[in-house]
Amino acid sequence: MGGKQMKNKSPKALLLFSGGLDSLLAGELLRRNGVTVTCLAFTTPFFSAEKSIIAARRYNFPLIIAPLPEKEYIKLLFDPPHGFGKCMNPCIDCHALMLKKAGNLMRERGYDFLATGEVLGERPKSQTSQALRHVDSASGFGEYIVRPLSAKLLPPTVPERNGLIKREWFLSISGRGRKKQIELARKWNIDSYPSPGGGCPLTEKFFSVKLERLMNALKEDFSFFHAACLRVGRHFLLPENAHLVIGKDARENKRLLQLRLPHILLLNPINVKGPVALLYAPKGIISKENLERSARFVARYSDHENGVVRVLIASSEDILNIVTGPAHEAELERYRI
Ligand code: SF4
Repeated sequence: MGGKQMKNKSPKALLLFSGGLDSLLAGELLRRNGVTVTCLAFTTPFFSAEKSIIAARRYNFPLIIAPLPEKEYIKLLFDPPHGFGKCMNPCIDCHALMLKKAGNLMRERGYDFLATGEVLGERPKSQTSQALRHVDSASGFGEYIVRPLSAKLLPPTVPERNGLIKREWFLSISGRGRKKQIELARKWNIDSYPSPGGGCPLTEKFFSVKLERLMNALKEDFSFFHAACLRVGRHFLLPENAHLVIGKDARENKRLLQLRLPHILLLNPINVKGPVALLYAPKGIISKENLERSARFVARYSDHENGVVRVLIASSEDILNIVTGPAHEAELERYRI
């Protein structure tokens, strides 16, 4: 009986899952061929697992959510071995890191192989056959990465070679058109999925400019805290590389409170309505000028009709009150990122 169970055991795949159409189709194709599919979504301050969670729930896939390690991700942001795309998106190395982490998880938890929804030639830089080869070799798990939508156009992987999965299950989709994927989605009743692209701010020009400026200024002090803050608020790079973020509305104020770390100063006006602001100082050292400047900046975005704003500045150990007036536009522009 034990032998029979072994023979009928369903192969287990760990599928990198963005929640987009391609990864949904890859999962569905594997599932329809008897593979047990577990989805995996990585997170960083640049991308969340929100779409993956919605799609996994809707189409009934188990989902693992795992953060990518901060140090490794920041290292590749500063110096991606395979370069950037059009903006600050190190897609090849980002994918390789995800697949390396996925491969480790595959080993630890006993999955048989990895899968992705990648389609050969769908993205000009990150899905060419050369890019896929780079990802395969940089991840260290290339022989275990199955790409069901394009598998017939790619070299056979270990699970194909050892008969665990069959090449004929898979497809030979390539190129940028998504007609075949849309037909398949219709056939398999996959009727709700996010539109392709978008979602990763590293591919956005405006975000990338701000990110690059901040990274160049802060260098080794740059952390996921700064990256996460860049998605909300107004940003100012003050003298001595102090980074001030001021919320634009109630939702952003709330987000900034969530992002605050113990070594980050919290600013908000107490005699009038106004924003929440966070102030980061390298090595925790902040000058009096920067405290006063930050208070003026916060006052500028507060209800300052009578010109006097009392700004509370709190560290984890101390509280300070600065009575000030709003900063002038020229001063704001001088330091705005
Ligand atoms: S688009 Fe963003 S998340 Fe996707 S591979 Fe590129 S850098 Fe990574």
